[in-house]
Amino acid sequence: MTILPNEYTDRMKRILGDDYNAYEASFLLPPSRGLVINTDKITPEAFDRLFAYPTEKISYFDKGRLLMSEEKVGGDPLHAAGLYYMQDPGAMSTVAALPEIKGRVLDVAAAPGGKTVSAALSSDEVFVVANEVNFPRAKVLLQNVERLGLKNVGVTSLAPRDFAKYTPECFDLIIADLPCSGEGMFRKEQAALDAWNGNINKMNAERQKEILDDVLPALKEGGTLLYSTCTYAPEENEQIVLYLMDKYGMTLLPPRQEVTEATAPALSEDGRDLSSARRFYPFIRPGEGQFVAIMKKSGEKLYATKSIPTKLSFNEEKRVREFVERNVNGDVGVINKQGDDYYAVHPLARTLPLRFLSEGVRIGAMSGGKFLPHHNLFTAFGGRMKNKENLRLDDPRLAEYLFGLEVDAAEAQDGYVAILVEGYPLGGGKCVGGRIKNHYPKGLRTH
Ligand code: SAM
Repeated sequence: MTILPNEYTDRMKRILGDDYNAYEASFLLPPSRGLVINTDKITPEAFDRLFAYPTEKISYFDKGRLLMSEEKVGGDPLHAAGLYYMQDPGAMSTVAALPEIKGRVLDVAAAPGGKTVSAALSSDEVFVVANEVNFPRAKVLLQNVERLGLKNVGVTSLAPRDFAKYTPECFDLIIADLPCSGEGMFRKEQAALDAWNGNINKMNAERQKEILDDVLPALKEGGTLLYSTCTYAPEENEQIVLYLMDKYGMTLLPPRQEVTEATAPALSEDGRDLSSARRFYPFIRPGEGQFVAIMKKSGEKLYATKSIPTKLSFNEEKRVREFVERNVNGDVGVINKQGDDYYAVHPLARTLPLRFLSEGVRIGAMSGGKFLPHHNLFTAFGGRMKNKENLRLDDPRLAEYLFGLEVDAAEAQDGYVAILVEGYPLGGGKCVGGRIKNHYPKGLRTH
């Protein structure tokens, strides 16, 4: 049985009133787990047919599923193929609350990537800058973006204030899912409970205000801020909403009806009605605690978007394109260079003068005058590669490939080849004389 600090339970009793018993009872239920279907690769219907574990649909997010099994799914080849991203159903209620997502999106605190994934999947027209200030966490974020093969995400590892400096009034939407005291995680993360003390809420609120002050100049006039935390403390939630209203004249917007139905209204503060902001509780729907507020920046300005030229010489671009055209069906879009790597970039990425860790799909690099494809080329464009080897879930070569071994080719010709699982891209290799040399990255292999 989880022991909660008295100071915390006293406040929760004040907030929840008659619902407190239901909240306390939720600690006896197993923590919920969910997943977001990568609809860039597979339709929800096809996913439901293929996925081996029992799931239930989530009323407020069509790409979301509640996992009804406690088995670990990390080793699942469909997970390795980026067909889904594990995310708590409570956390899904944040991006799902937005009535519309468009244009340039900044996810300012993005690792490991849950909100970025949902925002990127909302439309191909959207470009998401997924930023994570903590560099090791930014690398995990990048790995997730690459595994899913998302083509409309760029990854950065900058301080929030850098966006105000380099991209002022540039973003249509900023997602600020900020570090918090994590009270909503108490059911499943003992560490959050251990770190809790009476001062933690104030400390987090100060940091949240600082991050928002730093990043808000990067939001367009009339743009939208999605503010969220996974805590219940009013200091870090409702009081932040009031701070944004009072300091910046921001207004609170209602979420989508489906999210309203699955959540409770935010508390009134200072006698002001903040019920358009929402609180997600595990006793209303399965999922961990969450707070979400959609806020609009005042003003309405239209900005012309100026495209930044690519850094490629004519000859360089010709050589990269020749490789791509030889191996991939259809166009991969604009190609740009960053360091030694070549990227297929979203048109909106080229309107942002940012130092990216990854500007889009990392398609490869030149080595000794030859173009060498990167794993990300296969995860993002593998379905369109001309040379493919498709492995069924019961094919013994699948485990061999994930382990890092060479496998026999049944259908692939000599040359670079996309390895698919049940028709969905998993990685790549190079076929020589009927054997496929394994190009699955060492860090992802099962050994
Ligand atoms: N949005 C993520 C998702 O859906 O997967 C979860 C983000 S987590 C709640 C908050 C993130 O804020 C952490 O990755 C943490 O490293 C980052 N962070 C911590 N301090 C920060 C700061 N001062 N400025 C910006 N980000 C910070």
